[in-house]
Amino acid sequence: MKRALVCGAGGFIGGHLVKRLKSEGYWVRGVDIKYHEYSPTAADEFICGDLRDQGVCRKITGDICFDELYQLAADMGGAGYIFTGQHDAVVMHNSATINLNMAEEAKNTKIKKVFYSSSACIYPQQVQVDPRNSLLPEDIAYPANPDSEYGWEKLFSERLYLAYQRNYGLEVHLARFHNIFGPQGTWDGGKEKAPAAICRKVAAAPDGGQIEIWGDGQQTRTFLYIDECLEGVRRLMDSAFSGPVNIGSDELVSINQLAELAIGFSGKKLGIRHIDGPLGVRGRCSDNALIEKKLGWRPRQPLVQGLKVTYQWITEQVRKNEQGNK
Ligand code: NAD
Repeated sequence: MKRALVCGAGGFIGGHLVKRLKSEGYWVRGVDIKYHEYSPTAADEFICGDLRDQGVCRKITGDICFDELYQLAADMGGAGYIFTGQHDAVVMHNSATINLNMAEEAKNTKIKKVFYSSSACIYPQQVQVDPRNSLLPEDIAYPANPDSEYGWEKLFSERLYLAYQRNYGLEVHLARFHNIFGPQGTWDGGKEKAPAAICRKVAAAPDGGQIEIWGDGQQTRTFLYIDECLEGVRRLMDSAFSGPVNIGSDELVSINQLAELAIGFSGKKLGIRHIDGPLGVRGRCSDNALIEKKLGWRPRQPLVQGLKVTYQWITEQVRKNEQGNK
């Protein structure tokens, strides 16, 4: 039986990844600074600990010989967290410390393979100005110019893991995720990302009302459903390819179109009011040529399919919250 260590197992992608690994027959240890908010862990063992603390990292890697490490723990959030500038120092400090610690422990304990979740946020901002034409092949990452400190930290950590591969023989696999969404992710509180925030606003709005969208809503993105993200992660880990490789959809939509889809699921008549807010780049689309070439696979599920499931889950959360507040 293979043994996997999942860091960030109390989070959205980590929580789903634990379930996926269990379904494949792995023994899994999950680690996070907090328990999962929306579902009990599927991990065989869950350790609550702060990965900024090297002693904790040593402890969670020291007693078992792991076949695979999935390092997803990070200080992260949507545009409302990453682009205001207020969290830049903590984001960089927290995530870089976690990665420095975990790369070192992976080397010391000879973990066979390491997966690291990087982000589309590493790409230079000047190639993401056209909302209709913003394909991001992996090789345009340099010269680097990410639009956030979150992106700079991700780029640093990509390089860190690759340096450990080069100098210490650690086998690493790096993916750049592009807007992953699905049920059991953060949907309120300020760290939620666009699909969850929009689904929440639509679910909470009264029929005939309005929802607020940051900016003019014509900024474009691609959104990938969680199951397809995990399919990509597992295929990458089972391959000989280190990456970095994009794991994202190439179905480009504007934020207005995303909102229209969610409004469509609700059956309500809702208007959209555009307000000022943190935005990020104008356009961003995953280029999937490399993943297709290296893994013989690319995500294909239409956005509407996963968004419907996510909308239904968020509607339930909004209802539960409203009932709790009565
Ligand atoms: P998430 O915030 O739900 O999960 C991250 C987890 O890391 C959280 O549960 C958090 O508690 C944990 N964590 C943070 N600091 C910690 C610490 N000091 N010690 C232990 N645990 C700590 O985010 P997610 O959406 O599941 O993202 C997982 C990974 O994928 C992150 O590295 C993120 O940067 C990356 N990523 C995600 C997306 C996306 O669209 N969700 C896009 C690009 C990259």
